Amino acid sequence: APRKLAAGNWKMNGDLAALAEVDRLLAAHPAPACEVLLCPPAPLVQAMKARIGGGAIAVGGQDCHARVSGAHTGDVSAALLKDVGADYVILGHSERRADHGESDADVAAKATAAHAAGLVAVICVGETEAQRDAGETLAVIAAQLAGSIPQGATAANTVIAYEPVWAIGTGRTPTSAQIAEVHALMRERLQGAVSGADDVRLLYGGSVKPGNAAEIFAIPHVDGALVGGASLKAADFGPIVAAL
Ligand code: 13P
Repeated sequence: APRKLAAGNWKMNGDLAALAEVDRLLAAHPAPACEVLLCPPAPLVQAMKARIGGGAIAVGGQDCHARVSGAHTGDVSAALLKDVGADYVILGHSERRADHGESDADVAAKATAAHAAGLVAVICVGETEAQRDAGETLAVIAAQLAGSIPQGATAANTVIAYEPVWAIGTGRTPTSAQIAEVHALMRERLQGAVSGADDVRLLYGGSVKPGNAAEIFAIPHVDGALVGGASLKAADFGPIVAAL
């Protein structure tokens, strides 16, 4: 079975002073049973990595460009993320799909670049509330997976995160049965698309908190979490790490 993954997405939050939370997390959980990942804003990746030192937390970016380098003002390459200490990059988060119009094809191209640079791609999928209400959830997830996972994806270089858009930052979560249904579909759809499909980590994301983590982690095919708000403070993220 794959090693579980507790991933924190700081989004556009945090600063150098906030790296004190990393110290607190390491002090409270020096040898976690699961793998732990924090994805701060890109300018903090190097400082966070230095702060962690030899500690048991990996660092990741929140996006990368599909190209290796060049005239793309404001963008960050996968190779640069790797160079400054990242081992992962979140791709296709619903906020990037919404704010920056990223398509499944864009996400697949970025994932190819991430793989080429030696980064693990955390590819995000998820339905909107309107899509769920229309009964389209499974079709939406299947289409996003088919379009966003690149050639060459393996259990070692790819993680999938299911993040229902309506559960992000809202305090609302799907029922365990709803999460189980989507994760079972994802596991099935990875067969053929990814080498080692049974070992790909499938994360759930959307209002994961200390109080609901254990229940969510007990759901079949949930191999960890992608946590937003509750990853910012060690007092919140620590118990989620411990629940895995
Ligand atoms: P919240 O945990 O704040 O709902 O955010 C989830 C998310 O979008 C993580 O990528």
